[in-house]
Amino acid sequence: MLYKWETIGHKRQLEQLEKEISENNISHAYLFSGPKDVGVFRIARIFANILLCPNNYCTNCQDCKLIQNGSHQDLIVIGDNGETIKIDQVRDLINKTNLTSHAPSRVVLIENIERMPIEAQNSFLKTLEEPAGNTIFILTATKINQVLSTIKSRTRRYSFFNVDDSTLRKILTKEYGENADMSEIIQIAQGRPGLAINLIKNPAVLTEQRNIYNQIEFFLKKNDLSRKFTFVEALDKDQNQLELFFDAFSRYLRKLLYEYLYKGDHPLQSMFSLRNVVDLFESLEKTRYLIDRNTNKRLALENFFLQTEK
Ligand SMILES: [Zn+2]
Repeated sequence: MLYKWETIGHKRQLEQLEKEISENNISHAYLFSGPKDVGVFRIARIFANILLCPNNYCTNCQDCKLIQNGSHQDLIVIGDNGETIKIDQVRDLINKTNLTSHAPSRVVLIENIERMPIEAQNSFLKTLEEPAGNTIFILTATKINQVLSTIKSRTRRYSFFNVDDSTLRKILTKEYGENADMSEIIQIAQGRPGLAINLIKNPAVLTEQRNIYNQIEFFLKKNDLSRKFTFVEALDKDQNQLELFFDAFSRYLRKLLYEYLYKGDHPLQSMFSLRNVVDLFESLEKTRYLIDRNTNKRLALENFFLQTEK
């Protein structure tokens, strides 16, 4: 690698970006997409830094320092604060990018562009079509299917994927040393370096993951709809827990499938056949899909839990 990407994995994509930089073939708009926690926004931020630093991200120059403390005047960042991007914010952004800048380039970084409602995406589109002179847009998306196809077609697209377990393990061990929980961490992280690092640095997050995993096991072993619905109520209020839940449940079912297929005799087999587990898996994915598309969260989750009763 030519530059300090400070990223785990994604070698092919980073090499391609480096090639574009070295050939001076930079597009005026990029769209980087990939699952949460694989490092997409991190890469976007470093790419912006490479473009703005005269030494392609040296970490020491004035530009790099200003970027690090968030006060570089040619870098506009709209980070994901968990809220939708309002039309006023988009107007403000459009005005800012219309101002002339004497810098060789100005970069606009938007995390999770799908947070823009369609109306806002439409007004943003015009700016993307006729960018002011030297502006480079770097957009990221976790839910690419919620991004207007007209935005997709006007950007140079990069897709990022989960990092393979062996790369993740190798780099994490090198970076953070041996860890007694490493195998479990790799299993939970499923190729998402951001999550793995969080689990290494914060044992409380690992405990939280274990708790929810145990909770799921309990729910599959026991018919207790009222307790399950109380759990749904809690999930309904806490987006973070909800994501943890989906993650842990799908991990649990995958493990179950593996054990059914390769290990035989499983204590849950008397309650759930292989077919039942596959159905549950599909239903879990469907529930996640529906909630992503703003279906009544509680209803969808209750429906799902009904299928865990035997
Ligand atoms: Zn620099």
